[in-house]
Amino acid sequence: MTTIGVLGLQGAFREHVRSIEASGAESVVVKKVEQLEHIDGLIIPGGESTTMRRLIDKYNFLEPLHEFGKQGKPIFGTCAGLILLASEIDGSYDVHLGLMDINVRRNAFGRQRESFEVDLDIEGVAEGYNAVFIRAPYIEGVGESGKVLATYNGHIVAAQQDGYLACSFHPELTEDHRMTAHFVKMVEESKKSLAL
Ligand code: GLN
Repeated sequence: MTTIGVLGLQGAFREHVRSIEASGAESVVVKKVEQLEHIDGLIIPGGESTTMRRLIDKYNFLEPLHEFGKQGKPIFGTCAGLILLASEIDGSYDVHLGLMDINVRRNAFGRQRESFEVDLDIEGVAEGYNAVFIRAPYIEGVGESGKVLATYNGHIVAAQQDGYLACSFHPELTEDHRMTAHFVKMVEESKKSLAL
């Protein structure tokens, strides 16, 4: 069975567990570094990236999360999680994990549009996908080996690069589990290739 962890330091982690299980994999909330050894992939949830970073430092997660990604185990960053994965934030190189070659802008849709829902077409994943945005970042640019999966109003809101998947919206808050199911598939494939 494929097991996908959800980083449970802060934010919307419980809803991700439900979405992973609805997509046919096992899920566990990760609160301790040792748990990373027992999972095949990881979701970094939405929340507040600066708060989450403070907790990542407090519980010594930074280096182990970095190692996890470098081993080739997939990581899916949603909303604040996307910010944590990025190699560049708001045009500065002051970053958190810096694992994924994307340039992100925080709270990018403006205060007047704090939260909203739209139907998105996500390449190779879903058409008419019910996407919920909450104080969302967007991706300004994706590196050469990355691929844009979805845009909204001309801004990139989902991307993939090797084992890294990132989206601006919250895939765990609705009954539309197709984005999570896409990540589950990525994890199953990586598990097979890492076992070879
Ligand atoms: N605005 C938050 C941040 O900058 C992200 C919001 C979210 O995860 N819903 O971290």
